[in-house]
Amino acid sequence: MFDSLNRCPLCGSLVRTTGKLLCPDCWSGCTDALLSHSYSHFCTDCGMPLETAQSGCPRCRADPAAAQLHSRSLFRYAGVIREALLMYKFHDVRELSRLFAFLLDQFVSSFTDRSVIYIPVPCSHESRTRRGWDQMALIAQQLERRGAEVEYGIGRTVRSAQQKHLGKTERHLMPSGSFYRRALPPTASGSQQLYILIDDVYTTGSTLRACSALLRESGRTQIIGLTITMD
Ligand SMILES: [Zn+2]
Ligand SMILES: [Zn+2]
Repeated sequence: MFDSLNRCPLCGSLVRTTGKLLCPDCWSGCTDALLSHSYSHFCTDCGMPLETAQSGCPRCRADPAAAQLHSRSLFRYAGVIREALLMYKFHDVRELSRLFAFLLDQFVSSFTDRSVIYIPVPCSHESRTRRGWDQMALIAQQLERRGAEVEYGIGRTVRSAQQKHLGKTERHLMPSGSFYRRALPPTASGSQQLYILIDDVYTTGSTLRACSALLRESGRTQIIGLTITMD
């Protein structure tokens, strides 16, 4: 009998190569879905893939708030990666945190050689209570295991009774009240450190912008957003 660690967490087939998390088919399914494999141009604000070089996508050009934070996403929220995220978050397949950490780290090393600090966006209090763990914190821990630096600089408050009654769209539009800044070490003056806020899904960008505004208050100015998927 093989234990679950010897099976690909996405399709269940046996993984015969030591140290590999996914089977070869699922691995190529993931890497083929990387937006950077299919597109050369991206919106400089939200990271939306574009067919031609333009200064921004139509959505960001219509919304000046989008320019407050430059973001990128590794994948669209679709196909094998959507399945992987759902298995990770809702079926407790926590070993997938290794995969997401690897993909984030690999992407970051492909575009910068600057010193980087990852800051995970915390999940909601409800999700944390239901699941018992925080999906981005777990990925951040895997990044630390890979040698990356992480600051758990953003906290999340319990949603107020008033917010609970808002629809999904309204909550997306006003999430800033549910984040707060934790005590963070002072930044060295003239620091060239790049802070990378990481989250699982980019929807409107308002979550990343709210978190980045909090980090700016602590003197962290060079911040970008990076999400596993874009919805
Ligand atoms: Zn597989
Ligand atoms: Zn855009």
